Amino acid sequence: MTVTDELRYWLEETWDPDLTVGEWWEQLGMSGWSAPLLPVDAYGRGLNRVDAMRVARTIKEFGALGSPMGMGVSLVAPTLVTHATREQLDRYLPDIVTGRKWWCQLFSEPGAGSDLAGLGTRAVRDGDVWVINGQKVWTSGGHWADLGMLLARTNPGAPKHQGITWFAIDMHQPGVEVRTLREMTGGAMFCEVFFTDAVVSDSARIGDVNNGWQVANTTLFHERSGMGAGDRAALPLARPGTVANDLGKRAGDMARPRSRVSADLPQALAGGPTVFIDLAQRLGRNGEPEIRQELARSYTLNEVQRFNTERAKAARAAGIDIPGLPNFSKLLTAQILRHNRDLGMELLGARGLLHGYDDAQRATLADVPGGTVAHVLTAQALQAQALPIFGGTDQIQKNIIGERVLGLPKEPGDLSRLPWNELPRNG
Ligand SMILES: Cc1cc2nc3c(=O)[nH]c(=O)nc-3n(C[C@H](O)[C@H](O)[C@H](O)COP(=O)(O)OP(=O)(O)OC[C@H]3O[C@@H](n4cnc5c(N)ncnc54)[C@H](O)[C@@H]3O)c2cc1C
Repeated sequence: MTVTDELRYWLEETWDPDLTVGEWWEQLGMSGWSAPLLPVDAYGRGLNRVDAMRVARTIKEFGALGSPMGMGVSLVAPTLVTHATREQLDRYLPDIVTGRKWWCQLFSEPGAGSDLAGLGTRAVRDGDVWVINGQKVWTSGGHWADLGMLLARTNPGAPKHQGITWFAIDMHQPGVEVRTLREMTGGAMFCEVFFTDAVVSDSARIGDVNNGWQVANTTLFHERSGMGAGDRAALPLARPGTVANDLGKRAGDMARPRSRVSADLPQALAGGPTVFIDLAQRLGRNGEPEIRQELARSYTLNEVQRFNTERAKAARAAGIDIPGLPNFSKLLTAQILRHNRDLGMELLGARGLLHGYDDAQRATLADVPGGTVAHVLTAQALQAQALPIFGGTDQIQKNIIGERVLGLPKEPGDLSRLPWNELPRNG
């Protein structure tokens, strides 16, 4: 029996649209289908990436609500599998695979993004707990989070990579203040997080004291290699965690896209050129030489990306690592997003200036002929700036390819051996 046969049989036995989201995810998670990439003894099924993507697609095609998504499953779980104790795995993983808890990533700070190892949030030991003071920023979904992956400085006298520790911090406590940041997209996905004498138990420390850089690198590896690897069409609507308040909703209601607009989003977000070719034809602009040139460029970029994905899949299947391929793929995806933004705006003309920032505005604009596609393209244009920054900017990807793949010399002025508290700082 293949994996998908086994899953279909299980879905027929188990899926019931009248279950709550929480009840359904409990079944999905504890049977290993939520996070099938995880090992069997860590609430997964030990599948490879290709089979795991088949699992997500099978659940969607069956019409059931997909697995809980987010950083818990994609980043925390594989980090724990590599670095946590057995007791910590059993403490955190069940809440992740069943969507009971939402996690955020508390890595970046106002003065530490690309140079993450320069971070300054302090953790000072006081008996069985650590006391946390400092500030994080760019924290995606921080306002929904039950727990956070916290990187904090535990030895300021050591070189910057050697004095950091990775903690699982409870976000629901008095010393943690989360403030959302409004974006130009109209959304508010990011937060600033302030720690004032917050506490985290030593038993929530993942890995050894001052060994957090190694643990963080596992998290970052999974962040980079996961980008572009998921099946976006399989993203479910329900959000995990106690704050988002979706766990008590009827699972069957959350298994379908909510509106005309959101139903169209996954296809356009996948970045395929069809949406642009159709639009150019509809607007009668497909005969213009410059538009034809850009449509051809869109097609070419997408084909190169498709070949990359095929190479990555083949390499994974053969157990081979192609150095730099994830970095190259991320750079290419960033280029595709920027090209989509420019081509979409060129085709939409003045209509591209209108964007629906809330459901009512979106509904009004969707009634204009071609309004749904226009909304997707303006949303995509406003979001195109994100991917070239998060998970390592374009420039950092190029540095990695230059230094680690092509063997070029490192940047001059390496400060990695100086103690963190003696590093030169602005003003
Ligand atoms: C959509 C989104 C979601 C995010 N979510 C999270 C999250 O959940 N948790 C979290 O911790 N962080 C998150 N981040 C933060 C992200 O990781 C940082 O923005 C990123 O690492 C860049 O850091 P910075 O913004 O401080 O820019 P800086 O590091 O200050 O960089 C500024 C500019 O200088 C360039 N630069 C910096 N250093 C070098 C160098 N050595 N060589 C060449 N050029 C260089 C950069 O490429 C960039 O153009 C998110 C960011 C975005 C956009």
